[in-house]
Amino acid sequence: MNHDDLNFWSKRAADWTRDYYSTLRDRPVRAQVKPGETAARLADAAPEQPETMDRIFADFEAIVPGAMTHWQHPRFFAYFPANAAPASILAEQLTAALAAQAMLWQTAPAATEIEEVMMRWLRDALGLGAHFTGTIHDSATTATLSAVLTMRERALGWAGNEEGLSGLPRLRIYASDQTHSSIDKSARIAGIGQANICRIPTDETLSMRPDALDAAIEKDKSNNCLPAGVIFSVGGTSVGGTDRIADLLKVAKAHRLYTHVDAAWAGSAMICPEFRTLWDGVDDADSVVFNPHKWLGANFDCAVQFLADPGPQVRTLGLRPDYLQTLGQSEITNFNEWTVPLGRRFRALKLWFLLRAYGLDGLRQRIRNHVKWSNELCHEIARLPGFEIVTPPMLSLFSFRYRDDAATEALLTEINDDGRIYLTQTRHEGRFVIRVQVGQFDCTRSDVMTVRDVLRDLTR
Ligand code: PLP
Repeated sequence: MNHDDLNFWSKRAADWTRDYYSTLRDRPVRAQVKPGETAARLADAAPEQPETMDRIFADFEAIVPGAMTHWQHPRFFAYFPANAAPASILAEQLTAALAAQAMLWQTAPAATEIEEVMMRWLRDALGLGAHFTGTIHDSATTATLSAVLTMRERALGWAGNEEGLSGLPRLRIYASDQTHSSIDKSARIAGIGQANICRIPTDETLSMRPDALDAAIEKDKSNNCLPAGVIFSVGGTSVGGTDRIADLLKVAKAHRLYTHVDAAWAGSAMICPEFRTLWDGVDDADSVVFNPHKWLGANFDCAVQFLADPGPQVRTLGLRPDYLQTLGQSEITNFNEWTVPLGRRFRALKLWFLLRAYGLDGLRQRIRNHVKWSNELCHEIARLPGFEIVTPPMLSLFSFRYRDDAATEALLTEINDDGRIYLTQTRHEGRFVIRVQVGQFDCTRSDVMTVRDVLRDLTR
């Protein structure tokens, strides 16, 4: 395959993409295959001789789409969305064509500078203070890991990076039980240890209690532990648990702790001013992550981390060996020093395309519709016999159950075998519940109301 062939096949791929999207509504949302089925259809070993692209493409069409869960299906209501707006797909194609490695300004000046400008555009779009700068990671997990490493090193006076952690005080970080497992993973990788995440009790609104946070920090100090930082949740994955960060930040600041806000999903909704009360006080946080690859419309992967002061993170993650020196260039940003991996994709391009192609107002309208339709659907489900709303809508996420745990679990299996919609589960206060989130980029009110119809059909 050469570049002339690439031209031909890119057009074929574009046609395929159009056909795929125009027939998505007719496909079952969740893959209906069994484990091992796809692998069994592949050759046992890589071919010694080249194969024709005709054959490769035909196999793609025959094997892949039917064995995928369709994340861009308008009736995907599982997990959180991973949207891919058409303008963002186009930008990803161009990113693949440029195939640049954007580790330093000089290895990709446009990528670096567009990233800097997109961080300002997004900061302002979300209503964040002008003191924030930002960078793009692959995922929220990496952004949270970066923040946890930074809180570790800041607490240790940057001794951990040099000497390792043995012999140093036992570090502690604080979060509620509503935070995502990426916090646990970060504590593991950072050498802090999952057992040193102190889980702060929440109140009836699922926010950490400031008095409990303060008491836990004091207790750790009196036990010669070293508090390092606090992680807040805005829109937790399970049922949307959200910390009242204004009050909690006061406690964290009084103890001079580093703070990180995980708004991976809910952050996108902050382009709508009316939702910003959900993260009142956020301007005083040190670090904030949100994923444009979830609700906003940027293709996976694209996680944005805003930093009040990038200095501590750059001091924690940045390294400049001889071969990465940028001789004679001082007033430039080398984003690899802000992030865990050295190599970086040109992710800012899809943000630039996305924000311009739909405009903030177009993106706001989508999110407002999702929230409105989710509330409407929640009311409809509450009226169905045997159904109970367990957690009310937090933006566009709510949860429900049907009769008891066993009946709810059985119903979920039936729903996803039926294929018209895709829902997933969680546990809330010990009970098995089904989550519904509305957020797919192109879903309509009628797609959302299909959830009610499916529930009614399957329980009639
Ligand atoms: N934080 C929250 C609240 C999430 O919902 C998720 C994923 O759904 C994550 C973090 C991890 O996101 P990522 O897949 O970008 O690492």
